[in-house]
This record gives sequence, C-alpha cells and structure tokens, in this order.
Amino acid sequence: MTEDKSYIIITYGCQMNDYDSGVMAGLLEAHGWRRVENEEEADLVIVNTCSVRTGAEQRAIGRITNINRIKKWRRPGMILCLAGCIAQQRGEEIATRFPFIDLVVGTRDFVNIPHLVEQVRASGNQIVAISNIHHPLELGVPHTIQKHPVRAEVTIIYGCNNFCSYCIVPYVRGREQSRPPEEILAEINSLVEQGYREIILLGQNVNAYNYNGVDFAGLLVRVNSIDGLWRIRFVTSHPKDTTPHLIETIASLDKVCENLHLPVQSGSNKILKRMNRKYTREYYLELIERVRARIPDAAISTDIIVGFPGETEDDFEQTLELVERVGFDSAFTFMYTPRPYTKASLEFEDDVPLAIKKERLKRLIELQIENSLKKNRALIGTKQEVLVEKSGRKGGNQLLGRTRGDKIVAFDGEKTMIGKLVNVKITDAFPHTLFGEIT
Ligand code: SF4
Repeated sequence: MTEDKSYIIITYGCQMNDYDSGVMAGLLEAHGWRRVENEEEADLVIVNTCSVRTGAEQRAIGRITNINRIKKWRRPGMILCLAGCIAQQRGEEIATRFPFIDLVVGTRDFVNIPHLVEQVRASGNQIVAISNIHHPLELGVPHTIQKHPVRAEVTIIYGCNNFCSYCIVPYVRGREQSRPPEEILAEINSLVEQGYREIILLGQNVNAYNYNGVDFAGLLVRVNSIDGLWRIRFVTSHPKDTTPHLIETIASLDKVCENLHLPVQSGSNKILKRMNRKYTREYYLELIERVRARIPDAAISTDIIVGFPGETEDDFEQTLELVERVGFDSAFTFMYTPRPYTKASLEFEDDVPLAIKKERLKRLIELQIENSLKKNRALIGTKQEVLVEKSGRKGGNQLLGRTRGDKIVAFDGEKTMIGKLVNVKITDAFPHTLFGEIT
C-alpha cells in the first residue's frame, strides 16, 4: 500500500460539522498529510456527514458510493472514511452494508483520526470507531484548518440536553459538554495571531455554555477582551436560554455583533408544545421586544419548520403572523421529516401531506423574501462597517464583505482591502445582498 498522504474532507451539514472537519484537517496535517482539491488525487477521503435531514443523509451516502468507483478503478490504495452524525448513529450497519468503507468514525472519535487511519493502513482491515456518546471529548487546543479567509469558527459546547421532539442532535452528539474557557481563549488567540479578525462561537445551544461557573455571558466578556479580535458572533441560541442578563452583556460588549439567531420553529403554541421547545409564542415575541429595546439595530434571523405533525392551516397561519410581526432579517425554512429515535417520529404520525408541506413552505419563503427585502431596503443611505472578505463574483474591482448585522455587501474597492474594516454607504438592496460604495 502506498505511503502517500494526500487527503480531502467533504463536509455536509451544519457549522459544527465544518468545525470538526477543520479539527480533523489540522490533526492530519500535523501528521504529515497534505490537502488536495479533489477526490481523484486523494489517498484519504473523509465524508463528514449530517443526519439532521433525510436529504443530507442520502446525498452523503450517494457521494461515498460514487467515490468508491474512483477507488475501485483508479486508486485502489485509497482509504474511504465515513465520519459525523450518520457514522455515530448507524455506523455499524453502514460498515456492514458498504464493506468498501475502510473507516467509520463517530462524533466523539474523530479526534483520533490520524491514528485510526494509520491502523487501517497497517492492518488492511475495516475499523469502526464509535464511542459511547457520553464519553468526554478531549479536544484540547486544536490547530483547526478554517475554510474561510477572514472569519473563523470555534466550537465552545458540544451536544444538547433539550430533546426537542423532532431533533436528532442529542442522540448523535450526546449531552451538553462545554469546553474549558482557557482552551477556547487559547484557540481564539492563536486564530487571531494567524490573522482572523471575526470569530463565530459555535454550539447547538451556545447559551447553555457553562464550565465550572463560567457561563456564556462570562465567556463572551473574556473573548471580548482579546486584543486584535474585531468581531464576535455566535450560533445557535435557544430562545428559552436567552436571558435578560445575556442580552445586557451582548449589548455592552463592543466586539459582539448586533446579530442574533433565535430559532422560533413555529408560531403556534400547540405545535411548540409538541416540539418540546419549552417556550410560547408570547414569550418569544416578548424576547424579541427585549432584544430590540436593548439592541435597537439587532439583525435577527430564525429557523422555522413547516408541516410538523398535527400542524393545521390555523397553526401555520399563526407562524406566518409571527414572522410578519417580528420582521426577521432572514430565516432558514424547512419541511418536517421524521428522524429515527426522535420522540416526534415515534409518537406522532407524519400527517401533513407532502403537497401541503410544500405549499406552506412556498408561502413562508415568499413572506420572508418580502421581509428581508424590507429590512435591507431600510438600510439604503446608512453607513455600515464592513469586514471585507473576498473579491466579488463579477470580477473587476468588486469586493464582498459583511456588515455587523451579517449582511453581504458588494462594492468596488482595492483587493488590498480584503481582511480590513471599511465604511460603506448602502446604495441599493436586494433580499440577500446589499450594494454600496466606500465612504
Ligand atoms: S435545542 Fe432542540 S433543536 Fe436545537 S439541537 Fe437541541 S434538541 Fe436539537
């Protein structure tokens, strides 16, 4: 078997998976592996999977099956690895069904990736490494390979204790486990030294962060004091854990962006209860008022599921009404699909017909596009601080950057501005992009 060490990681799913892929990449590179751009050149292909929705799961399995053709016909020494949530959840079954997969690594064992790959190479046998999901994750201060040139992601808490009835996360990522603040701060300091200026703190529920008495607000205060760091964002916040103290802390810290992602999921109390979200629409609306009273410019985004079991037209209209009333800056919208193990899949019949789910999703998206456009048009004429990220797709002098409210802005400028803060006057607005000129 060849000793060549080229690798590629294909990542599906959320930012947490992106981060885990970055950790694996950093570990592999520390062990002499080098990244390549496509599977045809790779000695190791890792498919880091997500099982939150059926579509993502099918895509990942389809992809690894296709890559096996390359392995079979052109690169027989290639090691094929399945990682992430699907591996954690159904790794044993998949390993048996697809014997061409050399390595299956769960959401706790990916930190051992270099050693596991070496074991596969040495033995030539298939290895399945899936620890008990309660096993502590020893991350230390990893050297992550970030996919973005300016902003870097740092996971602060793994897992979730909430058991929303539709969600698979507690089953594949385990219970909440906060990383020590010293390790998080050391990792961010190292990223800032590498030139990253914006940090996104990640977790299924960042507000639940707690390590020996340091809560999320306390962590934000510490991160805010890091020299050379300009901006802090975080995802995801659970509305029930977004306390007045946390809102106060966010408002008082200069580096924390005025940008909150607060998944509402539904505007109907009946559905929220079935989802086990532990808040009501009234609570959520009050929370938005509290946020806006203290952080008037806050850009608020959300997640919404349509077609949850038992959702009637009236329930859905309550969601539309809430979306209209809040006026979200953006929303990630999904059709409900049952996921194995979850309470919703075991106890509720998936009784909203697909055609109705699709029709509701369409109406919701149309409303949100109108809202996003309204929000963005309100910024025309304002001056925004923009962190310049890259050249625009149109080429020429066009640059793309992000406002503190997480809106993409296109404007003309010099490439030397990439990675810097500039002030941009907004001149035009579309639902997903602003246009402007440097002031
Ligand atoms: S808060 Fe609910 S939806 Fe979010 S990860 Fe936890 S269980 Fe899933």
